[in-house]
Amino acid sequence: MGKPTGFMEYQRELPRDRDPLERIQDWTEFLLRMPEDALRIQAARCMDCGVPFCHSGIVLNGAVSGCPNHNLVPEWNELVYRGLWKEALGRLLKTNNFPEFTGRVCPALCEGACTAGLVTEPVTTKNIERAIIDKAYEEGWIVPGPPPKRTGKRVAVVGSGPSGLACADQLNKAGHLVTVFERADRIGGLLMYGIPNMKLDKGVVRRRADLMEAEGVVFVTSTEVGKDYPAELLLQEFDAVVLCGGATKPRDLPIEGRNLKGIHFAVEFLSANTKSLLDSNLMDGKYISAGGKDVVVIGGGDTGTDCVGTSLRHRCRSVNQLEIMPRPPARRAPDNPWPQFPRVYKVDYGQHEAAAIYGSDPRHYCITAKKFAGDERGHVKEVHTVNVEWVRDDLGRLSPREIPGTEKIWPAQLVLLAMGFTGPEDNLLQQLGVDCDERSNAKAEYGKFATNVRGIFAAGDMRRGQSLVVWAINEGRGAARECDRYLMGSTSLP
Ligand SMILES: Cc1cc2nc3c(=O)[nH]c(=O)nc-3n(C[C@H](O)[C@H](O)[C@H](O)COP(=O)(O)OP(=O)(O)OC[C@H]3O[C@@H](n4cnc5c(N)ncnc54)[C@H](O)[C@@H]3O)c2cc1C
Ligand code: SF4
Repeated sequence: MGKPTGFMEYQRELPRDRDPLERIQDWTEFLLRMPEDALRIQAARCMDCGVPFCHSGIVLNGAVSGCPNHNLVPEWNELVYRGLWKEALGRLLKTNNFPEFTGRVCPALCEGACTAGLVTEPVTTKNIERAIIDKAYEEGWIVPGPPPKRTGKRVAVVGSGPSGLACADQLNKAGHLVTVFERADRIGGLLMYGIPNMKLDKGVVRRRADLMEAEGVVFVTSTEVGKDYPAELLLQEFDAVVLCGGATKPRDLPIEGRNLKGIHFAVEFLSANTKSLLDSNLMDGKYISAGGKDVVVIGGGDTGTDCVGTSLRHRCRSVNQLEIMPRPPARRAPDNPWPQFPRVYKVDYGQHEAAAIYGSDPRHYCITAKKFAGDERGHVKEVHTVNVEWVRDDLGRLSPREIPGTEKIWPAQLVLLAMGFTGPEDNLLQQLGVDCDERSNAKAEYGKFATNVRGIFAAGDMRRGQSLVVWAINEGRGAARECDRYLMGSTSLP
């Protein structure tokens, strides 16, 4: 333990975010850095509690508690407190290929399970993780490290999101020749064309892809396997295949008026924006603009928040975010004790920004859209909603019931559907003869990652359904381990 009394002496502190009114003028990351001595004080709050739940990654009451990657949090906290940054980096990279991604976008499942959180506030683990890896890049400690020898085995990874990248990185370290196919024009999956630049700078994603390329991973972009590259060639040209294609089918809202112009899926809006931003600084006009519009975002989660932040940067006239679920409590409810993941009300960056402009959080809870109304040009002009209450049926299941008299009309020239994803696209899975589970994901047991087709593995959102970057990394690493075992008869990959 770094400092036995640290958690009693020091308060939890995070770096300031950039001022909301300033940061909505650009697309630069909103997080600011913390000075090194302040970070060391934060690391000193880690109490080395003996049984550190922060890296357990176990499911409690239907949600994961602790880091799914089993990051060695107390170890690197102690090393940071002692100023041993390079050693801290060594411990961090043992379990996480890409801390520069999780350190920026992870919901910090570790912090919900932090023992200090039982008596005071949790350690700022996510911020310390980011500081270690950012410093490592700045100091020049992250350099290409190609494997000393090659096995001669060839592996194809389909999809370059965090699961595909983690898988490719591990397989390359094991000496296999890895080719990553990506249908988009840039590497990164949702890290590139989902999460917006102000949350995760695209230079950070590109830097990692460049590093992997320098280590020998081959990236083939603008190539959809099953369309531009025949699926049946995969097992002819490669010794094994890992499918990491994500869960890209968005959940729709098939209500009256859904076909009106101006109603888009969130990722369509976000990915076009990032592509145009990177290609031309939004000068090519190839994006869906929220500029001057009343925007209604349907879905109160992270993707919805990204739509709010992006709309504000386009200078929308107004933005409202509708959520059918009730507003979570301010503090843990009695049925949600530590170390379960805390289901509490949080204000994310997009809501802070909207509140700075319009004076209040844009989210409205217990509300559902009933229909979209359009103008004479077939363009959406209104969203009609009604409030709901959540009631239990005879079997004890909660379901929403409309409250008469609460109907409301919201002006909207742009509607963004951010209600999650239903599963992976089935085209490639069908062509390869890969079975799907009852939720339409690629069927492969967690831990083994092998599909019903010999030599084909599946990982990430394509296997587990819509999830998180940290899970994608965990699954990519696991699939690489099992793929290596399949190719070599045994494996030393973790
Ligand atoms: C808008 C948005 C914001 C999010 N924010 C967060 C966040 O803040 N924190 C967090 O932890 N998680 C977040 N997530 C979830 C997270 O991004 C995903 O769980 C994660 O990216 C899944 O990784 P993956 O590698 O499995 O798939 P993906 O990242 O979806 O990557 C799959 C890739 O496969 C490619 N592909 C698919 N089929 C083919 C094919 N046939 N041939 C070639 N390429 C193919 C796709 O083009 C895509 O690039 C967010 C998701 C969205 C949509
Ligand atoms: S990856 Fe996420 S859960 Fe794991 S230690 Fe980092 S911030 Fe915490």
